[in-house]
Amino acid sequence: MVATTDTTIRESLADAELPCLLSTLAFATGDLSLLKAHLKVDPLLAGEPQGGLTEAQQAEIREIAFGVIRDLQSGTRTVAPAPDADSLHRIMEFLMAAEVSEDYLPLLEEELAITSDDPRAPGWTKANLAPDRKFTVAIIGAGMSGLLNAYRLKQAGVPFVIFDKNDEVGGTWYENQYPGCRVDVPNHFYSYSFENRHAWPLHYSPQAVLLEYFREFAEFHGLRQHIRFGHEVSSMVWDEQQQAWVIELKTPTGESTETAQAVISAVGQLNRPKMPEIEGMHSFAGPSFHSAEWDKSVDYSGKRVVIIGSGASSAQICPIVAQTAKHLTVFQRTPNWFFPFANYHDKIAPGLQWMFDNVPSYRKWYRFLLFWRGAEGVLPACKVDPSWPDKRLSVSQLNLELRTLLEDYLKAEFADRPDLAEKVIPQYPPASKRIMVDNGTWAKTLKRDNVSLNTVPIERITEKGVLTTDGVLHEADIIVYATGFYAHRFLNPMKIVGRGGVELHEKWHGDASAYLGITMPDFPNFFFMYGPNTNIVVNGSIIWFSEREANYIVDSIGTILRNGLGSIDCKQAVHDRYKEWVDAGNKLMVWGVSTVNSWYKSPSGRVAQNWPYSLLEFWEQTRSTNVEDYVTT
Ligand code: NAP
Repeated sequence: MVATTDTTIRESLADAELPCLLSTLAFATGDLSLLKAHLKVDPLLAGEPQGGLTEAQQAEIREIAFGVIRDLQSGTRTVAPAPDADSLHRIMEFLMAAEVSEDYLPLLEEELAITSDDPRAPGWTKANLAPDRKFTVAIIGAGMSGLLNAYRLKQAGVPFVIFDKNDEVGGTWYENQYPGCRVDVPNHFYSYSFENRHAWPLHYSPQAVLLEYFREFAEFHGLRQHIRFGHEVSSMVWDEQQQAWVIELKTPTGESTETAQAVISAVGQLNRPKMPEIEGMHSFAGPSFHSAEWDKSVDYSGKRVVIIGSGASSAQICPIVAQTAKHLTVFQRTPNWFFPFANYHDKIAPGLQWMFDNVPSYRKWYRFLLFWRGAEGVLPACKVDPSWPDKRLSVSQLNLELRTLLEDYLKAEFADRPDLAEKVIPQYPPASKRIMVDNGTWAKTLKRDNVSLNTVPIERITEKGVLTTDGVLHEADIIVYATGFYAHRFLNPMKIVGRGGVELHEKWHGDASAYLGITMPDFPNFFFMYGPNTNIVVNGSIIWFSEREANYIVDSIGTILRNGLGSIDCKQAVHDRYKEWVDAGNKLMVWGVSTVNSWYKSPSGRVAQNWPYSLLEFWEQTRSTNVEDYVTT
């Protein structure tokens, strides 16, 4: 073993994220005197680099930490047992520079994973509950949330099979292979809570790195052999007599039928590409494709590229394509707000990685800090003040403050190009549509000589390019449609026939809903991941939310096995009450009142995608299954 030198520690501290360092060391050593009041971050500056700590504060933290880490490394100090609840509370409050209410504490303790690396693991096994019962779970989709359920079921010893239409795991991270594709939540938080040892090379990974993470996960945990690739579920029918789902699949060798006692849909909300309906689209002579179906055989360098759409995918594609294209024309219908994240494209500094690998529990506290910063995030700034006079540009005082912050960023970025500034500053309240992430790349791209931003509506597409309503023909060699997904068409195009012959899409009638976003009356033993109203918009991460859903689903399966039930089927009244409550919440959120077009709304105008409440509320609701909510057989 190579002895750690003082120089290594000092160099690593230069790269360390300091706002979580004293908490880490107090936790690791049990020495709460390290929590010096004058070295706490100012909560108002928490979003600044190093939590807004001054140079002098940073130097003092590094000096204190140097001594403690050196002692831990040399064995002069040893790692203390986990602190008692009061001490833990104090350490958390120091990190957050805020009082932590009692009701939040159990969630935070679980998040910090103090008692074990996986406090969310199911606390039961099928062998204990129902060893002789034949019970198989079918999971549809081998993306992030399908693999997560598979892992949990494996922990519980419940047999399962995964069907995926693709020939590889990864779901969205497999399908979206467009240039520039990357996650916009930091990876030390956008990762499974129980699989948090990965050495992420960047703060925000590109698609290939994420795909590799999910591949390795499936391989390492022996999930791959349970996956049937190239198997697309076309329909499912609930068989009352068998108390099972009969599943019809399209497979590489023809159609097949399978039976499962429970089914988990893990197909995502954003997996069916939405092509626009523009006159003449099919007359275009060159290659054209959707961003999620990127044609890698097409070389765009030296070509005239048109990209229709300026949402999250487009904002990642344009900076890369612009580097080598002859010309890039971006068609923007509605501009977007951006959060400035300076480290969006940065690598993990070697010193920070050393801290993760060598300082006890630093990795956990770093993740915890990321969780907390984004936990309820800007959610309060998304709430509507009903008395706010004019809701066209902002919906409350806090929303206005957020608007000012984001507007100032765009104004500064485009200060030298008033012609562009006029086009890129949104005229709708922030968070009505998804806020994107930027580190200055968007402005740099739009200002390039070989890039033009077009905001004139499209009239039609011709053989040669895109004709706008002002009569200008924008000639193109390639057209990319970065036009989003059919988010509101949940579980499309599967046909799902439940109890009494009820078809799911007919029951939804274009407006999907589900109790907890997970279960729907008349569809026994059928559970959704990332179902209706589980999209979080400005807080948390989709993986965090998915872990909650998986927790509830696996607990429901445990409930079935423990109680010897054939099925559980959500009561209609429970579902209806819940839907009413969620709708009431969404009507008071900015995305519920804003008239700007977004994929958060179904064509009916109802928000069927988003979760309007806090993470804490969802955490509480998904802790365990209340059998009283279900009709049981
Ligand atoms: P999107 O955000 O829905 O953007 C679609 C774009 O196409 C919008 O600019 C839209 O304009 C435009 N558009 C649609 N139909 C059009 C038409 N007929 N004519 C002209 N323009 C048209 O889709 P996306 O970029 O694929 O992103 C979807 C979601 O996927 C994101 O919100 C995010 O949740 C996820 N995503 C995440 C990441 C990431 O984490 N980094 C990256 C990509 C995607 P309007 O705005 O006017 O409708």
